[in-house]
Amino acid sequence: MTTSDESAKTARKRSERTCAGCGKHTAADELVRVVHDPSSGDVAVDLAGSGFGRGAHFHPTPDCVAKSLKGGLARVFKSKVVADAKAIGDEIVKAADRRIEGLLTGARRAGQLAVGSDVVVEALREERAELVMVARDAAAAAKLAEVEKAIASGKALAFADKQRLGSLMARDEVAVVAILHPGVAAAIAQTYRMSGPFRSALGGAAPTVARVTGDGGSPLEVAGTQDVRSEEAWSSSEVR
Ligand SMILES: [Zn+2]
Repeated sequence: MTTSDESAKTARKRSERTCAGCGKHTAADELVRVVHDPSSGDVAVDLAGSGFGRGAHFHPTPDCVAKSLKGGLARVFKSKVVADAKAIGDEIVKAADRRIEGLLTGARRAGQLAVGSDVVVEALREERAELVMVARDAAAAAKLAEVEKAIASGKALAFADKQRLGSLMARDEVAVVAILHPGVAAAIAQTYRMSGPFRSALGGAAPTVARVTGDGGSPLEVAGTQDVRSEEAWSSSEVR
């Protein structure tokens, strides 16, 4: 699985949870959390880990989702669970996209983004870019030498399209942005990684630019020592 010894050794306090699918203990922030609505039997994906209610956890893999639906979730929630693996996978991707969009919006407001090819290239040259997000339909931007290098080194993610990225940046169309804040970059990378296995399962939604998803393991190496949750402190103190 994706649990690398290196990330496990980082100093942040990591509480462990049990995967409701395979039963292995794993750091909570590497598991997807779901909460249960006892009245409907529905489960909702809670990627930020802050939702109310009794939570269950599983590894972000189709296999552990399927296994947890076969009994693990029902055991944790002590109740029947109405959900299917594909719906949960779709929900994980949607929840990840929402969280990433929120992080990007916060980073823009705090002046922690480089927006557009020219400034992104400059940020990459000056080694200020922690992570690059390339719109899936941004063929030209993906071929810029600096951006290509970022993609090759696993420092880039394919995300949304130019129009969607543009609307997040309060512009018409944006092909590429770079995140300058290490904590935010780490949070985005981790959120993306969680949803990766389910993106490839969706077929059409699989990234075409970056090679970050697909195998569950990730070539991304973004600020492993940063506290993934630091964006909360960061956004409340600077976004005003
Ligand atoms: Zn598992």
